[in-house]
Amino acid sequence: MNAYMSPAIIMRVKEVGESDLLVTFFTAQKGRLSGVAKGARKSRKRFVNALDLFSLVSLEYAPRRQGNLLLLESGKLLNAYPGLRADFSAFSKASYMIELTEILFPPGVSEPDMFDLLNLSLDALSRGEKTHLVPLVFEFRALSMGGFRIDTGRCARCARPYQGEGTAVFLPETGGMACLKCGRPSALSPPLKPSVVKAIETLQHRPFREAMKEDLPEDTMKTLRVVLKLHREYRLERKLRTSKYVE
Ligand SMILES: [Zn+2]
Repeated sequence: MNAYMSPAIIMRVKEVGESDLLVTFFTAQKGRLSGVAKGARKSRKRFVNALDLFSLVSLEYAPRRQGNLLLLESGKLLNAYPGLRADFSAFSKASYMIELTEILFPPGVSEPDMFDLLNLSLDALSRGEKTHLVPLVFEFRALSMGGFRIDTGRCARCARPYQGEGTAVFLPETGGMACLKCGRPSALSPPLKPSVVKAIETLQHRPFREAMKEDLPEDTMKTLRVVLKLHREYRLERKLRTSKYVE
């Protein structure tokens, strides 16, 4: 049977049987996949350090005659992102990004840009680059790519276009925002200053490296975290297990 070789990010690793590993990984072209690495715990020759959590690897895999699980043939480590294992905060944020990716991109849903986003985000966290900004940049863009973009173009109630002036309020139940005639600021509908609306647009649309150039004031970051929490809880219904790591 045909074997495939592709860059992959290791999302989960579980011991099965006496010497096998069950590995879940994310690829650019085929999204999330799972496969068994036979005997990987006894002989590490075919997978030298290539099956560790978060690592970027070049993975060789083949379909099996039955079932959805693939057979992992070999793996070559491309980047271990060592900083993620050396620092608990970075590890927590990376765990959260993996979990969010799993929820937004179930098996069968692929998105090459999502692979790049996850990879660049893990890399930045590992290198300790703007680690307070990475989760925000990651999540706004991931939610946007996963179909949960926040509409900042108009009032969700009266459809009046938002011109980039004046305060609006976030309305989680609409996935957008309202003008002050249609919405009242509250704990569940935080007010959004023009600078915050602009930041949301930037983080949702710009590629990772461009978004990372943003130098957002702390009060903007705080509002963005509140908006994300409300948006995520409303859209994804259940609270993610690891979301406390980024709140
Ligand atoms: Zn309105």
